[in-house]
Amino acid sequence: MTGLPGIVITGVSGRMGQMLLQAVAESDAAHLVGAIERPGHDWVGQDVGTATGAAPLGVVVTDDPLEAFAKAQAVIDFTSPAATVEFAALAAQARAVHVIGTTGLTPEDLTKIDAAALHAVIVRAGNMSLGVNLLVGLTRKVAAALGEDFDIEVIEAHHRHKVDAPSGTALMLGQAAAEGRGVDLATASERGRDGITGAREPGHIGFAAIRGGDIVGEHDVLFAGPGERMILRHVATDRQIFARGALRAALWGQDKAPGHYSMADVLGLD
Ligand code: NAD
Repeated sequence: MTGLPGIVITGVSGRMGQMLLQAVAESDAAHLVGAIERPGHDWVGQDVGTATGAAPLGVVVTDDPLEAFAKAQAVIDFTSPAATVEFAALAAQARAVHVIGTTGLTPEDLTKIDAAALHAVIVRAGNMSLGVNLLVGLTRKVAAALGEDFDIEVIEAHHRHKVDAPSGTALMLGQAAAEGRGVDLATASERGRDGITGAREPGHIGFAAIRGGDIVGEHDVLFAGPGERMILRHVATDRQIFARGALRAALWGQDKAPGHYSMADVLGLD
């Protein structure tokens, strides 16, 4: 037993789950108390260290989130929208901080997450890296400074396994651009052009998604005006940036009042 906050990692066998295991193991401010995988996964019932091919960690992977969350001060969750909505209610019951990295959440999912945030701290961000959260602030500022004769396009690239598009980060950047420009992203965005699309709508924010290989995550915000253009760019080369950001959010949330927070709150950027 330690006095450090106990962390549960959901989706522990996933790309981000394994990054989180490493981040928690390297931290001297938190320790691992639980690891969750979906029912039927072959890691369930195994020691999580052994399952990764390393030394045992003394934590057995379970498919019972309620039991695991009861022992936790924070749950770090990079899974799927359906799982995350279920975990939000259970983490709130356990009064554990819920850090949500899962993307592709629908407005209905977000309503359920808001309901859970009445009872517990939830930190949710489509991207947990410091650099991207700074880029969001810059995008808002540049969009506010430039008029409608600068077209804004968000271009993102990710690995071939990613299942949602545009990425959660692209949507964060689009939302920041919309706020800067004073428009509603829901009605002023253009996604996935193909065929005879007609000319670009002035003032709209465009999105384009590239998928391939093992690209960790790249985002450009292009401001294209008459005779000049600017590009704000973030390139992630290592998923550890997301895991370290998520762990920082879990620790930050320990003494906060219930609510639905963002990474900008954690990083003190707003
Ligand atoms: P992945 O497919 O490698 O991992 C997802 C894991 O979740 C899998 O191991 C899967 O078995 C598990 N899972 C699914 N349903 C579950 C359930 N009901 N209970 C327990 N485990 C369950 O995916 P990934 O690349 O690790 O990404 C996961 C999510 O995180 C995606 O939505 C991705 O877009 C997002 N992501 C966010 C950030 C960020 O900074 N916010 C960064 C990277 C990835």
